[in-house]
Amino acid sequence: MRAFAVEQDPAMSSRRRFIQLMPAAPLAGAALLVGCSDKAATPTPRPSQAPPPVAAPAAPAPVAPPTMPATTGLVSPSDLQARTLGYVPLTGQADASKYTSHAATQFCSNCALYAGRRGEASGPCPIFPGRRVSAQGWCSRWAKRA
Ligand code: SF4
Repeated sequence: MRAFAVEQDPAMSSRRRFIQLMPAAPLAGAALLVGCSDKAATPTPRPSQAPPPVAAPAAPAPVAPPTMPATTGLVSPSDLQARTLGYVPLTGQADASKYTSHAATQFCSNCALYAGRRGEASGPCPIFPGRRVSAQGWCSRWAKRA
C-alpha cells in the first residue's frame, strides 16, 4: 500500500529519476571539464592569424674600401705646394742642381705614392689630395716603389 503511494507520488518519481541519472553525472561533468580544458581554451591560430614571421637581422651594410679623394684636375707646377716640392709634369724638367738625388728614371708612375692606374697619363697622389699628377712627373717626395 505504502509502496503504491510512493509510486504515485510525483516528487518521489522525480527523485527516482534523479537517482537513476546520478551515476552518469560525474561522467558528464568530466566531459564538460575536458571540453573546457586549456587546449580547448587556446584556439589554434589559423594560417591567416599566425603571427608574422620574424624578419632576419639585416646584413651589415658593406663597407667601402678607403679610396683617394675625387680628383678634379692636374696639379699645376706653379701651385705653391708644387713649387715647394719641386713638382714638374715631366721628370726631365726637375731642377738637378736643387734636387741632386733626382734621376731620369724616377717618374710619378713608378713612385710608391702614386695611386694612378698603369697606362693612364695621370693619377691621384696623396701629396696633392683632390688633384692628379702626371704619370711622367716628379717631385722631391719621390720614393721607390717596393
Ligand atoms: S710623391 Fe711621387 S707620385 Fe706624388 S708627385 Fe711626388 S713623385 Fe709624383
